[in-house]
Amino acid sequence: MPPAWLLGGMFRGQHKHAQNAQWWPIERSRAYQLENVRAILKLTYERTPFYRRVFDSLGFHPQDIRTLGDLSQLPTVDKQVVSENLSDMCTKSISNSDVDFVSTGGGSGTPLRLYLNASRSSIEYAHLVTSLERVGYHLGMPMAVLRGRTVQADRSGLHHEYDPILRHHYYSALHMSDGDMARCLAHIATIGPCFLHVYPSSITALARFILREGKEVPKNVRGIIAESEIVYPEQRRMVEDVFACRCFSCYGQSEKVALAAGCEQSDDYHVWPTYGYFELLDERGQPVTTPGRQGEIVGTGFINTVMPLIRYRTGDWAIYVGDRCEACGREHTIIRDIRGHRTQEVLIAGDGSEIPWAALNMHDDTFLRVRQFQFMQETPGRAVLRILPAEGFGAKDSGRIQRNLGRKLDSQLSFTIELVDAISLSARGKAIYVDQRIPQEKRASSNAPCDT
Ligand SMILES: [Zn+2]
Repeated sequence: MPPAWLLGGMFRGQHKHAQNAQWWPIERSRAYQLENVRAILKLTYERTPFYRRVFDSLGFHPQDIRTLGDLSQLPTVDKQVVSENLSDMCTKSISNSDVDFVSTGGGSGTPLRLYLNASRSSIEYAHLVTSLERVGYHLGMPMAVLRGRTVQADRSGLHHEYDPILRHHYYSALHMSDGDMARCLAHIATIGPCFLHVYPSSITALARFILREGKEVPKNVRGIIAESEIVYPEQRRMVEDVFACRCFSCYGQSEKVALAAGCEQSDDYHVWPTYGYFELLDERGQPVTTPGRQGEIVGTGFINTVMPLIRYRTGDWAIYVGDRCEACGREHTIIRDIRGHRTQEVLIAGDGSEIPWAALNMHDDTFLRVRQFQFMQETPGRAVLRILPAEGFGAKDSGRIQRNLGRKLDSQLSFTIELVDAISLSARGKAIYVDQRIPQEKRASSNAPCDT
């Protein structure tokens, strides 16, 4: 049975919709966005104590919205606001069975808790699949996923699991020793024409391994999708050279307010007009309209109807390029150089291999009563997990963190928990999740980001 059928009617409808909508002229997209913004404002005003308070204090009523520009009358919200008003921001009871709870590492190592409607998954997946179709992916094509999923090893030592519905082959970005990488590459070569779904840091490690050991590149890789961390241009070029295919990136966030992806020709990010209303705001909160200028990505999401976020500041910054891609002709907002908390930070396993921090970002209750956390590492295979505890943090929480993270780390790295009063950023303000003190030359593979 074709995967689109297994994914259900909602997915099929959304998929068709996204395929058409990506070519809409800008006027049609704007009209669609205005309609959706109005619906979200009405929903939040009627159903959430938080937005009711905000709107009333401004003397604002959802009917007051005549143009998308009118939205700027409302204040922006950020992670802080969300964590302080969590239950007041929901449109329905969170005990409903169609409500999902998600917790994520968020920016600055501060866990963020969110509630989402279960139905957003098919809308999101439809947009993602449509984005990937631009570079030759089609549903049903095998996908080799090398990310944070916990995958058990078979007798040969290969970490591999298979999902026959989506035809996804799961490997482990947490197991990247030379032996692991060799087994993983050999297996990928057997799964037929496929795409790779990876962290930029893991595909870079794989590409460097191929170059270093003179390994044969699987000839069946048709494209690479690199997500969740910044993709440095030099890395993209190296990966594309080694695998002889496109290294394609999508941008999204757990908060589901904006989604963007490259196109057939360009690596610039095309912002999906049907996923949310997108704004790029400068330091003073003014819209960035000059190409080449930088602004913060601010989004009003359309797909989360349980906890809608209006003018949500993502903490990610990007360069504004224009309102149309010259290469493909899509009339989308085009941005590039997305920067923010999506840094490439790694822990070093006992054998010297690298464990991407992104793979340890737990999307469950692991960090439930944790305000902030950061790893500190001085010795391969060992680390200290610094925790700034939230109210009620106790032995049960430490135990859960040890258990859940320990399961992922699979004895490649042991860690002790240290409760602290404050967690500071590194001197360069970049290392947020890992205070990495092992010098580069002492690591097995040099995977330094070619950042400027
Ligand atoms: Zn384009």
